[in-house]
Amino acid sequence: MSFSCLIVAAGQGLRAGPGEPKTWRLLGGRPVLRWSAEALLAAGARQVVVVLAADRLDAAQEALGGLTGWRAVAGGATRARSVAAGLAALAGEADEPVLVHDAARPFVAAAHVEALLAALAAGAEAAAPALPVSDTLKQQAGGTVRTVPRDGLLRAQTPQAFRLGRLRAAYAELGDADATDDLALIERAGGRVALTAGDPMLMKLTYPEDFAMAERLAGAARITRVGFGVDAHRWGPGEAVWLCGVRIAHDQALVGHSDADAGLHALTDALLGAIGEGDIGQHFPPSDPRWRGAASEAFLAHAAGLVTARGGRILNVDVTLVCERPKVGPHRPAMRIRLAQILGVPESRVSVKATTTEGMGYTGRQEGLLAQAVAAVETPA
Ligand code: MG
Repeated sequence: MSFSCLIVAAGQGLRAGPGEPKTWRLLGGRPVLRWSAEALLAAGARQVVVVLAADRLDAAQEALGGLTGWRAVAGGATRARSVAAGLAALAGEADEPVLVHDAARPFVAAAHVEALLAALAAGAEAAAPALPVSDTLKQQAGGTVRTVPRDGLLRAQTPQAFRLGRLRAAYAELGDADATDDLALIERAGGRVALTAGDPMLMKLTYPEDFAMAERLAGAARITRVGFGVDAHRWGPGEAVWLCGVRIAHDQALVGHSDADAGLHALTDALLGAIGEGDIGQHFPPSDPRWRGAASEAFLAHAAGLVTARGGRILNVDVTLVCERPKVGPHRPAMRIRLAQILGVPESRVSVKATTTEGMGYTGRQEGLLAQAVAAVETPA
């Protein structure tokens, strides 16, 4: 289902203590704002609008560099004005789902988004994750303490889901009043509201001590995914072969539609496989004349860009070339350097290996060259 997101991060976050506002602090080495943006894009958001203080728009470019599908707009004096500014910046039909999310909840995941969209699809006008209150509640007033019944009490979290037109209308009715919870606007208007399963991982960073807890949770909010790729090309007449982005003088060439760099093709498929993005043939159809004789580096760079655009990071890649000739060993250092450049990762994360099949099979008979590759990437959960 197509949906849009609004990340609200215009507040000062004064309760989080002195120093950088919490949106910009680092958590697991990345700005708090980036966690939500990456996760919502990875969950399939069509567009993400980030609402920020006007003097922070440049900082967003830095914090969200490499991601695609987002833009930043300046917020207003109150949270309600900021949400309204974000809604005005969203393009979409009135019935498109829009998720409003608080940037201070960095660990939103695809499962949360799916539950909210399902609630809208089932007829709710608004939906939010909510958790039962498990602690005993106390009220302190005028020197006395009393216990408050917690039956039926729930803690609302974000993201909260709406239809774009309905939420715009609610904010138009609100006028100059403020709202700390978007769901409340639909409740007050008598709209059908659904609660989805809340999650302790949707914790809100409010106080300084919350950051220590969040640092411990940061590892659980990212997952490691592995992809595998295979490619083979036939030997034909020629004077050089391209392997892993390096040209090697040889008495034969690999035959193919592009430059026939089987190493790059296998690795491209491994990366696409790791993020579930199909295969190289879907992204670069051999029937398309644009790719005739193309340098395959563009294919690999495209796949690496998709990983980054989905909030992912390449952990390591490993390519194995299977051929009797040419000797790969002397070219291996150059191949590692070239692959690291294309992928934008340190050389230490790139491995190139080679083997023969001792004269057996099509590689042994030197009819063709086989390349295999694996890639490990880390993405939002
Ligand atoms: Mg190929």
